[in-house]
Amino acid sequence: MKKNILVIGGAGYIGSHACKALSAAGYTPVTYDNFVHGHEWAVQWGPLERGDTFDRETLDAAFRRYQPQGVMHFAAHSLVGESVVDPGKYYRNNTLGSLTLLEAMRDHNVNQMVFSSTCSTYGVPEIMPIPDHHPQNPINPYGASKYMVERMMADFELAHGLRSISLRYFNAAGADPDGEIGEDHNPETHLIPLVLETAAGLRPQITVFGSDYDTPDGTCLRDYIHVNDLADAHVLALQALERGSKSSFYNLGNGKGYSVQEVIDMAIQVTGKSITVVEGARREGDPPQLVADSEKAKAELGWNPKFDDLEVMIDTAWRWLVKHRQLG
Ligand code: UDP
Repeated sequence: MKKNILVIGGAGYIGSHACKALSAAGYTPVTYDNFVHGHEWAVQWGPLERGDTFDRETLDAAFRRYQPQGVMHFAAHSLVGESVVDPGKYYRNNTLGSLTLLEAMRDHNVNQMVFSSTCSTYGVPEIMPIPDHHPQNPINPYGASKYMVERMMADFELAHGLRSISLRYFNAAGADPDGEIGEDHNPETHLIPLVLETAAGLRPQITVFGSDYDTPDGTCLRDYIHVNDLADAHVLALQALERGSKSSFYNLGNGKGYSVQEVIDMAIQVTGKSITVVEGARREGDPPQLVADSEKAKAELGWNPKFDDLEVMIDTAWRWLVKHRQLG
């Protein structure tokens, strides 16, 4: 019989791609989502339960009904700026929600967890590319809300034997090449979809947040990683836990930084459209560069990113946008 995996936030951008990868690997993904950020159309590979992570009764019902072998936890608010002005929202949903989930796992004897963490847990990087053992000193409530979950999971392992793997993502990008699912945030704040919406004529312009950074072209460098490669890493992490691996944490990035300007240039090339660019002020809290050292994930999980080319990331995102918004 196929193993059920409870996917908290399975109707979201990265969660839905993980559900597809789980299904392809022979599991049944059971999506648990409150649809604050998720979409019903994204739930295509298994059953659906509606609920909040901090709703213990609904969680208990899902654990009883599906008897999952493990949990993948994607559900979170993830906007740094919003977390600064409304920290309670982040600690309640991301931290308290995860604590409720961990306690439910403990009580239902489910002891394998793959957790969506973030490079925001590192704070201001002291070493570049950032290794997994870099000190974690988050500088905003979003990063802190995730860092606290990593700490709680370490304590739950010691006390209850609940093993976990934290995957610290850099910048998720792209869409499933089959065109079935992709990114759809409301409001959209991420660079690549905003640039592509501008190319599509859905927005008048893209504002570059700062062109005076100490980087080769003055704009920020980010490590973009294709969402399918993130999804694959989750399945590999789950399988490592199934083999009895101890708890761990891994960076997930490509180890190459692309500037905001390079992303815009690539979007012009891929779409064949013109894009109006406006130079704006720096965005609060943006480090000049964030690049991952992901060698540990490659060595220990056998992770091998397949879509590590910015052109492919932007091309899959563009094809998704055109299809999803019926622009073709
Ligand atoms: N960015 C930008 N204009 C926008 C949105 C983002 O210049 O309208 C920049 C942002 O300052 C950062 C990079 O693009 O350097 C990636 O930002 P995004 O919000 O996509 O991801 P983050 O790095 O914040 O997770």
